[in-house]
Amino acid sequence: MSPGIRASRTLAVLALGTLAATPASGGPAPLKLTRWDASAVERAVAGAARRLEDARCQSVLDDFETGGRTLRSALAEWGTTPADYLRLIPFLDGSRHPLCRKDNVALVTEVGVRRIFVCGRAFSAQQLRQPGVAESMVIHELLHTLGLGENPPSSIEITQRVEARCR
Ligand SMILES: [Zn+2]
Repeated sequence: MSPGIRASRTLAVLALGTLAATPASGGPAPLKLTRWDASAVERAVAGAARRLEDARCQSVLDDFETGGRTLRSALAEWGTTPADYLRLIPFLDGSRHPLCRKDNVALVTEVGVRRIFVCGRAFSAQQLRQPGVAESMVIHELLHTLGLGENPPSSIEITQRVEARCR
C-alpha cells in the first residue's frame, strides 16, 4: 500500500488458505452473478447468518478494531443485528476484477465498503467442497466491510478467529 492511500481504500483479499495480498485501487463495474454462483453465495450467506445469530459468534466483532473502536461499535451505526447486516451486503460478480484472476482468491472486499466481490468458480467450488469454510470466509469478509484492515491481522488470523468463535 502506498502511503497516500488510506487504509479505508485498501483492498483485502481472502485467499483460500493462503496469505492475502493487499493491493490498492478499485475494480471494474460489477456484473450479475451466474445462477450457479449466486446459489453458492445464498447457501454460504444463510449458513453464516445462522452462525451470527449466536452471541458467541457475534463476539468476534469485539475481537477486532477499526480506527480505535470495535467492529461491534462500527456495526451499531447500521442499527441492525450482525445477521441482518450480512443480509444487506450485496455480493457482486467479480469475474472481471483483476484480483479474482489470482490463484486461490475467492472473495474480494474493499475495507469499509459494504460490498463483496465473488470470484465465481473459485468461491462456488469452495462452497461445495467445504460449506463450513465458505461460511467462515463470508464472515471474514463481513468484518472487512465494517472496516477491518488486513496485515495485520493476517488473513489466516482473521479466519482462525472466526472459526474459533463461530463453530
Ligand atoms: Zn481478509
